[in-house]
Amino acid sequence: MKPAPFEYSRPESLNEALSLLAGDEVRPIAGGQSLVPLLALRLVTPKRLVDLSRLIELRGIKVESDGIRIGALTRWCEILSDARLGEHHPLLREAVRHTAHYQIRNRGTVGGSCCHADPAAEMPAIAVTCAAEFEVMSLRGRRIIAAREFFRSVFTTALEPDELLISIRLPTWRPERRYGFQELARRQGDFALAGCALYWDEAGGCCRDPHVGVFGVAETAIRVPQIEAALEDRKITDEIIRSVARTIRDVTAPPTDLHATSAYRSAVLAVLLERALRASLHDPSHHD
Ligand SMILES: Cc1cc2nc3c(=O)[nH]c(=O)nc-3n(C[C@H](O)[C@H](O)[C@H](O)COP(=O)(O)OP(=O)(O)OC[C@H]3O[C@@H](n4cnc5c(N)ncnc54)[C@H](O)[C@@H]3O)c2cc1C
Repeated sequence: MKPAPFEYSRPESLNEALSLLAGDEVRPIAGGQSLVPLLALRLVTPKRLVDLSRLIELRGIKVESDGIRIGALTRWCEILSDARLGEHHPLLREAVRHTAHYQIRNRGTVGGSCCHADPAAEMPAIAVTCAAEFEVMSLRGRRIIAAREFFRSVFTTALEPDELLISIRLPTWRPERRYGFQELARRQGDFALAGCALYWDEAGGCCRDPHVGVFGVAETAIRVPQIEAALEDRKITDEIIRSVARTIRDVTAPPTDLHATSAYRSAVLAVLLERALRASLHDPSHHD
């Protein structure tokens, strides 16, 4: 099938883009890796596409005092080639290694992935796990949305139709931080059947402020407070790891779909959590 006819604009400035987005049935396009298939299947039929590619305000990764700011137009390949992230956000880099295939990583963007909001995508999982903030703009002004409020449901976000995602801020990565990232996909680069991203700060051999996120197992990526509470202030031993791997099966209810049953996802998730926790015990300098 071919896309339904649409008008096409490629604004040169953010203001021009926001004015265009204030129109009726307008869709922004970034890398096109998710939107073009939807257009081709006529699952979306906008009157106008607004190509974001010339908006320099949406580009680049900045290391700032309150964390790293990733422009919405940042492509996966730019994250993988940015050596600063080995120190400033190794968990993000690890997750992006699992995102899509080589060709898609050269076009697909961080902003496109978050606005598309696939529950099995890695970037939304990192945003939720790390309590990221989303900077959003329209002609009506600018607002900041917390990651847990940005993702509403499958393919649904808190963005209004006239709003553009500008950047995502991931809070500062602490040097004593330990992390693990695990997912299961049928083939390297496919969307995950289930996945787990976690980190914690090491203090006196104990786990402080653990963040445990899972994806592909609910309508959006979610954190699992029951697991975080079980890990807080504890030494991460074999016994704890086995215990939380049992708990996660009781506190999550993955969906059954074409790709896997709920029971399968649940069993896989427990193993992924266990592996992610074991990986987090390694000295972070040996992860790369
Ligand atoms: C074969 C294949 C395998 C893939 N595997 C994975 C995978 O394993 N993991 C994964 O996470 N992804 C995967 N993807 C998706 C890929 O990562 C996409 O690049 C990404 O989901 C969308 O990014 P994009 O820049 O291409 O967005 P587009 O396709 O251009 O846009 C996606 C949506 O976001 C909206 N949008 C884009 N930018 C903005 C913005 N700044 N503000 C507001 N709205 C915006 C668009 O209107 C559209 O609704 C795969 C894709 C393919 C084709």
